[in-house]
Formats: sequence, C-alpha cells, structure tokens
Amino acid sequence: MYKSSTAVACNNNIEYKNRLFVYEVVGLSQNGNTKNLNYSIRNSGSVYLTVPYNRMNQEMQRISRLGGRIVSITPVNKENPVLEMSNSNQSEQQQQNSKSMTQAKEKVKVPVNIYRPKNPYVGKCLDIYDLVGEGGIGTCRHMTFDLSEGDLHYLEGQSIGIIPPGEDENGKPHKLRLYSIASTRHGDNLDDKTVSLCVRKLEYKHPETGELVEGVCSTYLCNLKPGDDVAITGPVGKEMLLPDDEDANIIMMATGTGIAPFRAYLWRMFEEGDLNPDYNFKGFAWLFFGIAKTPNILYKEKLESMQQQNPDNFRLTYAISREQKNPEGGRMYIQHRIAEHADELWELVQNPKTHTYICGLKGMEDGIDEAMSKAAEKHGVDWIEYRKQMKKEHRWHVETY
Ligand code: FAD
Repeated sequence: MYKSSTAVACNNNIEYKNRLFVYEVVGLSQNGNTKNLNYSIRNSGSVYLTVPYNRMNQEMQRISRLGGRIVSITPVNKENPVLEMSNSNQSEQQQQNSKSMTQAKEKVKVPVNIYRPKNPYVGKCLDIYDLVGEGGIGTCRHMTFDLSEGDLHYLEGQSIGIIPPGEDENGKPHKLRLYSIASTRHGDNLDDKTVSLCVRKLEYKHPETGELVEGVCSTYLCNLKPGDDVAITGPVGKEMLLPDDEDANIIMMATGTGIAPFRAYLWRMFEEGDLNPDYNFKGFAWLFFGIAKTPNILYKEKLESMQQQNPDNFRLTYAISREQKNPEGGRMYIQHRIAEHADELWELVQNPKTHTYICGLKGMEDGIDEAMSKAAEKHGVDWIEYRKQMKKEHRWHVETY
C-alpha cells in the first residue's frame, strides 16, 4: 500500500546522508579551546566547520562542550559548494535545507478524507481497556477498531473522526468529533488492519445547575463493548506527521490524552523493528508528559520499559501535578519541567534535525513559550520569532484541543 511513497523516502534519506553542512560557530576563540579544532578563526570571531549529515548531532554536542555556539547551519550542495554566503543566502539555504530534511508530508503521500461524514466507514470495536489505574482521576480508555473491510489507512500523527449515534438537541444527527490516532500505521495487531484511540471521558459540573454533564462522543466511546459498530471518518491532519529522518531529534510535550500521537511515534521508533525496513530510528526522542497523578500516567509500564531498553535514544520526563512540587512549592505542571530543562531544549531546537511536538490541553503552549523565552533570551534571541521560523521550517508542531 505504501511502497511507492516509502521508496521516495528511502531515496531522500540516502541523499541527505551524503550531504555536508557548514556550521558557523562563535565563542571558541574566547575560551582557548581552539586547539581542539583544526580550523582557523576569522577576524569576525567565527569558525566554519564542515560537518557530514550523519555527524551533525555529535559535532553539535562537541561544540557545546567546548563552549562554542552555532550561529548558522548552511548546506553545501552541488550547485553551491561555497562555504561563506551572504546572510540572506544563508537563511534561504537554511530554510530549503530544513524543508527538505523534515516533514513526511512533503515526501510520503499523506492519506486524507478517505471516508467522509456522509459515507463513513463502519468498523467493529475489537478491544477496549482502562488506562487509568486505581486511585487515578477520571476515565480514560484505549480502544481498537477493525479496518479490515475497507480502505481506511493512515500515518502516525493523523486523526480520525467519530460520529456518535443519535441526535443533538436540535434533532440533527450528532457531528463528528476528532480523535488523535494512538497506533502506528500498522495498527496494534501489526497487520495494517486496525486503528486505536486513547479517549478521556469528558465529565464536568454544569456551571449553572451544578449537574454532572457527560460528553456525548467521549462517553459513547468509553462505553463501547467489543463487537459494537463505530462510524469512522478520515483520516485527517498533516500537522503532526513524523519526519522520515531516522536521525532526527523528536521532542514531545503531552498533557493527558495528548500522549496519543506520541504513543504512535514511540511504537514506530522502538517497537516495530523489522516491520519498518525504511525507518530505523537512531535519533533522540524526549517525551515530557504532564498528568495529575501517578495512576493517570497513560501507558506507564510500556513507556518506562521502552525507556529502559533504549536509554541513549529515549528520555522520559514526567510532570505529576498533584504529587510533585515546582520550585515555588506549587503544583508541577509541564511548563515547570520545560523551564527546568530549557537550556538543554534551547540547544536541541537549534539543531535543524530537531522537531518539537505539542499535544493535549489547549493553553499548554503559553507556559512552554515562557520557559523557552527565558532560555533564548540568555543568547539574545527572541523566542517567539525563533519559534515562527521553526514553524516555517516544519519543525514546530502543535495540536491542542
Ligand atoms: P461534547 O458533548 O461535545 O461536549 C463538549 C462541550 O462541553 C464543550 O464544547 C464545552 O461547550 C462543554 N464543556 C466541556 N468542558 C466544560 C466545562 N468544564 N465546563 C463547562 N462546559 C464544558 N479527545 C480525546 O479524549 N482523545 C484524543 O486523542 C483527542 N484528540 C483530539 C484531536 C483533535 C485534533 C481535536 C480537535 C480534538 C481531540 N480530542 C481528543 C477531543 C475530542 O474531539 C472531543 O472534543 C472530546 O472527546 C469531547 O467530546 P464530547 O462529544 O464527549 O463532548
């Protein structure tokens, strides 16, 4: 089903791996560390290092250890083998470079709207189980639907629509609700014939009457039994696709069910092995996961065993708001963990191979921006402008709801 698209991705990977990049580095001349580098320092104080694609990460870390700071990264290609370029050229080149290296949406044909609301795919619920442990807050379930009777297929990071049965208060059929896909393209049964979701049952007190209100679609989904039929649309979404680059750094920031797309990424990176001959992840994945209590850590055992088995490639950082304290003594939310690691994250996001993904509660972005602003400010950089540039380069991805 994906043969032609993965072949393109594979060719692209080979091309990238043969490419060279020039790092412009400052700060090395001031700290006496130049003996560790075989490059002369210009009058401007800059050092130019030519780095092969597959050494970009290591070189970045070495420069950082030596106290240097990379101010630009420029690809050297056949047409333009010159090391020094004008600033405008550099930014154009940087943009082209990161575009070509990054989004799967540019290389793989992304399936969209195979099934629409007027003609949804009806699939059976195969499996459904609780994700919140004893003593946790609320209800959240993992559920898997059978796709074997149709043509519905998808990529990691996409969403599907669910149409709950029945009518709304105006007597019209319920509208669809979107849910992030929590499984890889191969599905939890590894046969390319299922799709899984991670759904939290919406429950709140009515602001006027104080009565308990249950969300229409999330309650319907959480109450499903194996064998029940479900109307599915989609897939949709290109914002949260994973890059094909096996050496990419993938920073993930999730709150609650925002873990869903990241479950798909992590399973693809660390669980599926031979199923993905064109994707052998060798990069670095870092998951920040914000939840209320330990029993609310969705997929906890699996995440932790994955981390233990891949200690060099996967880092896992929890913010458990009702159990851990932030430095001011208040609840530990995800933005406090981002603040704690902001300098490391700032180093990482400057690498054109780094993609940042945010998924979960609406509003979580502000705290992340605040933390990153402080780190960027130390280097005289306006974080909001920098983030906009990352967005243009398809390296900053947000899906909140
Ligand atoms: P509804 O019956 O539609 O009720 C929702 C409405 O209730 C709100 O619009 C608001 O008016 C009201 N309301 C909600 N909370 C309160 C409150 N505290 N006080 C007063 N009024 C309130 N959800 C998941 O569980 N998992 C996912 O993976 C997931 N992925 C998503 C991906 C995308 C791209 C988007 C857009 C949304 C995603 N959602 C996900 C959310 C999901 O689409 C639904 O919005 C959610 O399940 C609630 O739908 P519902 O039908 O149960 O609630």
